[in-house]
Amino acid sequence: MKKISIIGGTGSIGTQTLDVIAANPDLFELTSFAFGRNTTVAVPWLNRLQPMLVGVQDETTRQELEQQLTYQPTIVIGEEGLLDIVTHPEVDTVITAVVGAVGLRPTLAAIEAGKTIGLANKETLVTAGHLVMKLAREKNVTILPVDSEHAAIFQCLNGERREDVRQIILTASGGSFRDQSREELADVTVEQALAHPNWSMGAKITIDSATMMNKGFEVIEAHWLFDVDYADIDVVIHRESIIHSMVEFNDGAVMAQLGMPDMREPIQYALTYPSRLEIQGGERLNLKEIGRLHFADASFERYPLLRLAFEAGQAGGSMPSVLNAANEQAVDRFLKGDIRFLEIEASVEAALQAHELIEEPSLDQILEADRWAREFVSSLTFAN
Ligand code: NDP
Ligand code: MG
Repeated sequence: MKKISIIGGTGSIGTQTLDVIAANPDLFELTSFAFGRNTTVAVPWLNRLQPMLVGVQDETTRQELEQQLTYQPTIVIGEEGLLDIVTHPEVDTVITAVVGAVGLRPTLAAIEAGKTIGLANKETLVTAGHLVMKLAREKNVTILPVDSEHAAIFQCLNGERREDVRQIILTASGGSFRDQSREELADVTVEQALAHPNWSMGAKITIDSATMMNKGFEVIEAHWLFDVDYADIDVVIHRESIIHSMVEFNDGAVMAQLGMPDMREPIQYALTYPSRLEIQGGERLNLKEIGRLHFADASFERYPLLRLAFEAGQAGGSMPSVLNAANEQAVDRFLKGDIRFLEIEASVEAALQAHELIEEPSLDQILEADRWAREFVSSLTFAN
């Protein structure tokens, strides 16, 4: 019986992880579980799976929860509580499904405690990849990617030698506005941005997909997870999201991993690795029905945030932390109707330009750069 901890359990990845656990009660036990404030989603799952340690974001949510639970777990609160959730002594694997840099400290704590990591929370690797990977090596901890592209690459690399890899090819659906020109992006609404063609995901990553920031983050995530240079990472638009990503080897062979767009597959693989298991109600890939797959260039002119991600990744140090925090703040402002769509990228670019690079930043310096970037972006004003 594998004992699982989830942080961010009420979100898109979190609830799909719960689906996988609930579908395989002989294999998995939910041991600890943290979410933010969404008790409507949390309560039925908690009453069903009854983890004995639960984390919530604040005291109000704790009180609400206590009134609705049919059993009595220990409840912990806030960011400190997340550390208790992930380091619970019985836990084997932690699924990091919170959104944003809030995942950084819990991920480091889980690695420090020797837990296997199922990593969905890519912002953690973007903001502090050097610290996370160094600690994972020191503690001999396995990080299994949940992000579908990285799960694909991980599978393509199975049994291969690192020195045989020529390049990694990340596929991108193109997001909500893939058929729009840049000119058409000026006045798009929040609602339009939230309508992703292929995947149903949390609000923040859906916006990140529309701006291509998500793919930029995935470039940085791939750099850290698979130890590849930025020059050896390519991005190709593939609108069907059937090929989840590819690896090209030195002899010209290209390995691809294909499947239906269903996040339960990479989530489950992170939980069952190296075995595989049928997914209940999972749709099988039928290429005859699909007929054609399409590929197109992901140009830096059309998607400036993709260029900025490569640049920030290559600059290294504190730049990716600023990229991430500035984007989090800008997306937050966009979702609140406070700035327009193209002002997300303008905000991120301005923050990167204003920031003075810190090489090899410590955890404190990363948290400081993160705080600075958020403040910087909050105070930006745009002419109408
Ligand atoms: P959602 O917005 O759907 O869920 C986010 C979760 O994090 C919720 O459970 C939320 O709690 C919780 N949360 C947010 N802030 C805090 C906090 N301060 N303390 C504790 N919990 C908090 O996000 P997704 O599931 O879409 O994404 C999660 C991560 O996975 C992201 O990093 C994303 O980039 C990555 N990812 C997602 C994919 C997807 O298909 N969705 C695909 C690949 C990667 P509550 O709502 O209860 O307040
Ligand atoms: Mg992805």
